[in-house]
Amino acid sequence: MFSRREHVWCDLQQWLACNNVVPTLTLLHHRNIAPSPICARCGLQDETFFHCMRDCRFSKDIWQHIRFNNSCFFAYEDIEVWIKDGMKGPNSTTFVVGLWWVSMSINNEQMSIHRVEANIKNSADNILQAFPLHQAVQMERYIRWNNHNFDCNILNVDGSCLGSPAKVGFGGLIRNNAGYYLTGFSRFLLTSTDILEVELQLFISICQQQKTWDLLL
Ligand SMILES: [Zn+2]
Repeated sequence: MFSRREHVWCDLQQWLACNNVVPTLTLLHHRNIAPSPICARCGLQDETFFHCMRDCRFSKDIWQHIRFNNSCFFAYEDIEVWIKDGMKGPNSTTFVVGLWWVSMSINNEQMSIHRVEANIKNSADNILQAFPLHQAVQMERYIRWNNHNFDCNILNVDGSCLGSPAKVGFGGLIRNNAGYYLTGFSRFLLTSTDILEVELQLFISICQQQKTWDLLL
């Protein structure tokens, strides 16, 4: 399964790609950092984002092995649109995992195409197992925030520790007595599975932010 680090990496790569600042050889050459813009793997074309992540024959081979064969997939010229469209539909998980493993293969030429393909399949299966696409239908439940007749700004907080492996976090928000949202906060605790620690961290977070809230409370 993807670790937090890998999720952050994917977010970063997507942000970099969409802002056209991925450090490809073309960009590095343009900035006089790399001697040549030519792709070091195939030696045939300039290494742009699309070339290294999709069009270089080594990357293209991976995409085709995981059944991204449609010519439209290789026709996109806008990185942001390509990524956004890739992240829609039933193959979105495989697409995101594919991005990750294609980039891993760029720096690890020893990895066989079959190994990459198996890694993509395993990662996608693990993600789908952890976050099923078809969640159980949930009953609609109407709730309403209540000021309990307090005539001031009101802070609501809560923490939780659920599941195995545990997902632990807390959050809070401040509304005025009419129910309008003023500010809020939330935090995940990556290293704890202890609800008492969650409650203590929540208390610390409130103390840390109290200075800001003095303007509100
Ligand atoms: Zn190439």
